[in-house]
Amino acid sequence: MPATTASSGRAAAGGSGDLVLVLNSGSSSVKFALLVPGSGERLMGGIGERLGTPEALLRVQWFPAAAVEERLPGGTHQAVVARVLDYLAEAGQAGARLLGAGHRVVHGGEWFTSSIRVDDAVIAAVRSLSHLAPLHNPANLAGIEAVRAVLPDLPQVAVFDTAFHQTMPPHAFRYAVPEEWYTEHGVRRYGFHGTSHRFVSEQAASMLARPPGGFRLVTAHLGNGCSATAVRDGVSVDTTMGLTPLEGLVMGTRSGDVDPGLLSYLAGRTGLNADELTRALNVDSGLEGLSGVGHDMRTVVAAAAGGNERARLALEVFVHRLSKAIAGLVVGLQRLDALVFTGGIGENSAVVRSLVLGRLGFLGLAEDVRANADHGRRTGGRISVAGPVLALVVPTDEELLIARDTARVIAAGRRSFATPMMS
Ligand code: ADP
Repeated sequence: MPATTASSGRAAAGGSGDLVLVLNSGSSSVKFALLVPGSGERLMGGIGERLGTPEALLRVQWFPAAAVEERLPGGTHQAVVARVLDYLAEAGQAGARLLGAGHRVVHGGEWFTSSIRVDDAVIAAVRSLSHLAPLHNPANLAGIEAVRAVLPDLPQVAVFDTAFHQTMPPHAFRYAVPEEWYTEHGVRRYGFHGTSHRFVSEQAASMLARPPGGFRLVTAHLGNGCSATAVRDGVSVDTTMGLTPLEGLVMGTRSGDVDPGLLSYLAGRTGLNADELTRALNVDSGLEGLSGVGHDMRTVVAAAAGGNERARLALEVFVHRLSKAIAGLVVGLQRLDALVFTGGIGENSAVVRSLVLGRLGFLGLAEDVRANADHGRRTGGRISVAGPVLALVVPTDEELLIARDTARVIAAGRRSFATPMMS
């Protein structure tokens, strides 16, 4: 037992209000955070990894300083939730009450347009949307079931990656394909990273003291996955990801947009089937496929600076495609007030931001070189010269937004939900 850590955690975490447990559950891992939605104060965070195997491991970070690792042989999502609650109890959180649990759920289809209190109907609906996110929705449900098993009466809230984009108009979300692909198979653009796009667009409006009404911006979430969204009057009107998170921008290992004709072309030439080709587009492509030095933008930028031609090209393709997408998204806005960079690359890579701003001067954007160099992940702020169109770095915090939605939805009381199939 990590007694010393628990006691240092107690010191670090004292005197907090109501807490929300935020879970981002994968099939064999679960990231968690315990935070105070009002203040954003974080008490604890961490990850359970290799769940369901003899090597299952729990890593816990108490803020601000203490950390602990614990083996959980054979441990599941449920074991992680139980241990996190044990740690909370051991830390003697006087005055702190667990308000609820908030879950990242990847796919809400067309049914979920906002965050919602979890009940049996919501669970059934998320499960029945699994064909749209076969790797993610069942894993997200494993987190929900784990909390139910440990604390059956704790209110739970589902926060969907897709919900923010449900305001897109049909001309932005429909593909030009046979009608029944949409009506019978749900083939349309859904968009992802909605929690991050919503969080940073709200932050940007508040940083610039602009009410969401009338404010028009493009948010570029650039992490391992990358997407950009046009936000008008506080709602998403277009985005770069589509039916799956493969569409759109060049990413760490994902291709983004390609000619769909390449699937049959390569199937004919290589004998690979659709699943194998789609896997290659997801995991062997993007910066990794182009550069040959890896998927991490830091490695690519360093190699490019060192004269590696493939890395230089990878950086140029990334920046060109991103700039083109941002300019394209302005069509849905008809005027750009601000461009927001976020995610690991957006918050940290002054080089990428500078290259993008250099290509978008015609939109009225001009880099403030010093500010761009200064604004890292911790600070955020304006990185363009003052003018009618601004560029900002806004650190994202999806866990905080999930915690806030959880508190808000619980406070608002229960809402009934019935899927079209169930009603
Ligand atoms: P995820 O999408 O998995 O949440 P992040 O948003 O943390 O990931 O983004 C991860 C990516 O951020 C890394 O793969 C790396 O390319 C990029 N990154 C992090 N720090 C830097 C940096 N200082 N310069 C350039 N890129 C960075």
